[in-house]
Amino acid sequence: MEGVERKGRRLLLIPLPLQGHINPMLHLAQILYSNAFSITILHTTFNSPDPSNYPHFNFSCIQEPSSLCLSQSSASHLLNFLLALNAQCVTPFQECVTKLLSEEPQPVACLISDALCYFTQGVADKLRLPRIVLRTGGVSSFVAFAAFPFLRLKGYIPIQDCKLEEAVTEVPPLRVKDLPTVKTEEPEKYYELLHRFVNETKNSLGVIWNSFQELESSALTKLSQEFSFSMPMFPIGPFHKYFPTSSSSSCSSLISQDQSCISWLDKHSPNSVLYVSFGSVAAITETDFLEIAWGLANSNHPFLWVVRPGLIMGSKWLEPLPSGLMENLEGRGLIVKWAPQLEVLAHSAVGAFWTHNGWNSTLESICEGVPMICMPCFTDQKVNARYVSHVWRIGLQLENGVERGEIERAIRRLMDVNAEGKEIRDRALKLKEEVKLCLKTGGSSCSSLEALVTYILSLESSTFQAS
Ligand code: UDP
Repeated sequence: MEGVERKGRRLLLIPLPLQGHINPMLHLAQILYSNAFSITILHTTFNSPDPSNYPHFNFSCIQEPSSLCLSQSSASHLLNFLLALNAQCVTPFQECVTKLLSEEPQPVACLISDALCYFTQGVADKLRLPRIVLRTGGVSSFVAFAAFPFLRLKGYIPIQDCKLEEAVTEVPPLRVKDLPTVKTEEPEKYYELLHRFVNETKNSLGVIWNSFQELESSALTKLSQEFSFSMPMFPIGPFHKYFPTSSSSSCSSLISQDQSCISWLDKHSPNSVLYVSFGSVAAITETDFLEIAWGLANSNHPFLWVVRPGLIMGSKWLEPLPSGLMENLEGRGLIVKWAPQLEVLAHSAVGAFWTHNGWNSTLESICEGVPMICMPCFTDQKVNARYVSHVWRIGLQLENGVERGEIERAIRRLMDVNAEGKEIRDRALKLKEEVKLCLKTGGSSCSSLEALVTYILSLESSTFQAS
């Protein structure tokens, strides 16, 4: 975008420092930069992005307490991390923004904050800085988060094991087991986090969604009509499709991506490989890991499996893998520590994605028309999986735990030549076409982006600079 005249307006963007949040925030920054805004990324020391990949942005570090980190992958660690971040970053963030506002020659149009950094609303109010939020998850799961107080009153939450299969009639098509809960000894802490997250989203001046109108229209309507979300909403996604895959893939990755899997995929025929990845935070037990390994081996289909160091609880990397298992497959399976996922999903050899249904993974799969096997672990992943399998009907969910026989059957249902697999694949390809349309001139996301740019520029008149 060199040579484009900047709008004379600077935007401050603060991502939540986790991979699934940094990726969409930096893509959003690129999109807004392409629309002639100047960009400053505010970030923590923990999981800081690499400024050398973005020479056209400014970066400013919030000097948060050194104790802030996510040392282990588990729901309760994640919960404590989010609470600590929101408690400990207030003062350093306020100091950082105050300094920027006093030194910045360009007027700052607004702050764009990850919705889970709810602490930024209070600071923005104090500094009289307009705040818009980016919700990096889907709209449908946000509806379920917004419904939490009501679902608690109705007795759906806390979840009772005997009611897992019951329909939650107020939030269709969710069943009790699809509600976005986490396993924790301290559920009150989780409820408080959700309360603040939803409320400070409501108190913002607008919400940007990494989603598109055609995919989640009923959830968007529900939010504004039933939950009184009256601020403007901008479904402008999928963000990463504004750029060529190769250029948007690796810049924001916190872990180095193993490119060797692309040449491995090159050797395979179209739609023949199952890609398996459970994202950057989820962790699985050693027992589940072994069931997955045997399910993959027994399926007879080629697979590319991301086993991130730390994925298996209590192990460094692949120690629990039975010796000889991979060797006996004679090259049918490849395990890597971290993959260039956007390129993998866009590769013609990939025929299905076995995912934990983090929102980015789900959306990335939708964009490439790749059907999914769903194995959600916690929070919004459970809602996303339900939508994939029962609303968009572009995947199958492993409903009965992680067991090698069921895994093998699910892989065969999706990847063997058969009518069911074909129908699912056809629906996924149709949705991929909708993605292309929404990003074209006049398409829903393209129009929403235009509206967002106009909206941000309209905020300038009410912006007050810190004195
Ligand atoms: N990802 C990647 N390489 C991998 C696995 C994941 O680049 O081997 C990226 C993926 O493309 C996505 C992000 O990491 O953008 C994971 O986000 P998601 O919301 O799917 O899951 P989370 O990690 O937040 O649970």
